[in-house]
Amino acid sequence: MTDVLLSELSDVGRDPAGGVTRFAWATAELELREWFAERAAGLGLDVETDGNGNLWAWWGASLPGTAFVVGSHLDSVRSGGDFDGPLGVASAFAAVESLTASGWMPSRPIAVVAFADEEGGRFGLACLGSRLLTGAVEPARALSLTDDDGTTLAEAMTAAGHDPRRVGHDAERLARIGAFVELHIEQGRMPVADGARGLAGAGRPIGVAREIWPHGRWRIDLTGVPDHSGTTALADRVDPVLAMAHGIVEVRRAAEDLGILGTVGRVRVLPGAVNAIAASASLWIDARGEDPRRVRELVAQVERSLGIESALESWTDVTRFDAALTADVTAAVGGEVPSLPSGAGHDAGVLSLAGVPTAMLFVRNPTGVSHSPEEHAEGSDAETGVAALTAVVRRMAG
Ligand SMILES: [Zn+2]
Repeated sequence: MTDVLLSELSDVGRDPAGGVTRFAWATAELELREWFAERAAGLGLDVETDGNGNLWAWWGASLPGTAFVVGSHLDSVRSGGDFDGPLGVASAFAAVESLTASGWMPSRPIAVVAFADEEGGRFGLACLGSRLLTGAVEPARALSLTDDDGTTLAEAMTAAGHDPRRVGHDAERLARIGAFVELHIEQGRMPVADGARGLAGAGRPIGVAREIWPHGRWRIDLTGVPDHSGTTALADRVDPVLAMAHGIVEVRRAAEDLGILGTVGRVRVLPGAVNAIAASASLWIDARGEDPRRVRELVAQVERSLGIESALESWTDVTRFDAALTADVTAAVGGEVPSLPSGAGHDAGVLSLAGVPTAMLFVRNPTGVSHSPEEHAEGSDAETGVAALTAVVRRMAG
């Protein structure tokens, strides 16, 4: 079922450079929003867009009790894969479809959700839709974030027909979410309880999430003295690109030293002319690992080495998923499912930090690779995921 749903999306945002690029509030993502509304309507669900741009498809919205929510996100990173996000939304629709077809009726409201701007691919801050909803990000800060063209989030929302004045903490909606289960493509080859690496290593089609590693993003801005590359002696230069290069190497050295993950995947050099010594250079550090003290220590080591302080752009502490809900999910799928940590952040983590009982289901990704066209799920594994999600909804909302 999910392969049919995902095939409906396969052309949307197809990037000539490979994979799909589906940035928040841009053309491709708006097409996905239409797809969501059509799919939901086809299943007889009531669709609404909340103030933060998250999409909700309700089944039995007027039933008593809090909602049991399933879903994920639809946006992608630049040249991302087909599964990160859409697999969770498509699986949620497939679960609702199979329950409807079987004549089953919920006893509490069920919602399929697609959170807005999960990847932060355009405005640089991940999980914006869920973070705004829970109040983890101030609306003014979010709305003034800019993309590479200098467009603010507020302007992008307005252009897409969404009123940015509606953005912000939505306590009423948050209180309505009784539990959230996010199904997601597996990312990486994380250690599975029995010592195997990843679900492929464990030989299992699905798993449950144990925790999300603490992770943060920092920016370091280095300034230089801009000048002509052909007329300035090497000894006279203040070149921020050299310092940036040193910083990048330091991130890797410190990460190895501390046994965590540290990455520089984004740099900015201004003005960016081939024949000019740069006026400024910035690098972004993404650091994460099991131990939050080590993650912070990596940044401190890089700061000391460069003699400059970084600017913290985001920090998320270790996120533990709800043990009772995870036990329910495990029982619903027949018990004895491998559990693994997540090195990636998710909307489920944001909701969990806001006090919502949350669990995650991972579908085996044989390559382990994500945020890339190499990301993959076999159709039969995706169907195992749908069957699991269906069983979870049946158990939790029956
Ligand atoms: Zn994702």
